[in-house]
Amino acid sequence: MLLHHSTWHEVEDYLTRSKGLIIPIGSTEQHGPNGLIGTDSICPETIARGIGERFGALVGPTVTLGVAQFNLGFPGSVSVRPTTMIALIQDYVSSLVRSGFDHFYFLNGHGGNLAPARAAFQEIYTETSLRHAADDHPIRCRIRSWWELPRTNALRHDMFGEWEGVHATPSEVAITQHAYPDAIKVRDMNKPERVSEEYLRDHPSDDHYDAHHHREKFPDGRIGSDPSLATPDAGARLVDCAIDEMGKDFQSFLAEG
Ligand SMILES: [Zn+2]
Repeated sequence: MLLHHSTWHEVEDYLTRSKGLIIPIGSTEQHGPNGLIGTDSICPETIARGIGERFGALVGPTVTLGVAQFNLGFPGSVSVRPTTMIALIQDYVSSLVRSGFDHFYFLNGHGGNLAPARAAFQEIYTETSLRHAADDHPIRCRIRSWWELPRTNALRHDMFGEWEGVHATPSEVAITQHAYPDAIKVRDMNKPERVSEEYLRDHPSDDHYDAHHHREKFPDGRIGSDPSLATPDAGARLVDCAIDEMGKDFQSFLAEG
């Protein structure tokens, strides 16, 4: 069930059954030689819609712009500032708290969103804490990246091994191929350089230098990945696994109270 395909009466009715909402959050940024610029938004949106259908959950509109300044050296990439993202998440959540929602599950497709999302959650909790009102209805926020839970993470590494890499991965490109088969891009590409252990240690997925450095270091936009291995079938298997695993994670989040 999609919030933006519902009437307010339907949302009011949903709230009598559940106070939980799934919010896909992604990015609009280059994804290597054959990856769509919308990859990081398409992946969480596809999985969230699947959870909505399989688990009867309500899914909010996707946050399609992310914190991606490091990719601005590639045409078509769009970034919002971390402060913009923090404010956007606060306003998104606060609006729907007003409606009666209290559990917000951000289904993430982009590592650069993790730090600002967590900062936004702390801003939201700070407002409640400062009011010191014991009768305030508790608000709970969680962010999970679609690749991070154990079964989905193991599946993508089983499929693509050391060529999964870090950015413009075959697994995320595969999910977009499954979701939008008409938009599959075919392009010859060489194997990239493997990402060194040292680079991985110093640059977790949410920690990058500026756009100039990034383009110089990764000229075709990939980070250690071989997205030519992507197939729509692999994408379908990943989506199915993530729907099941993240749907259960969403349910346990709601059960925590
Ligand atoms: Zn991505």
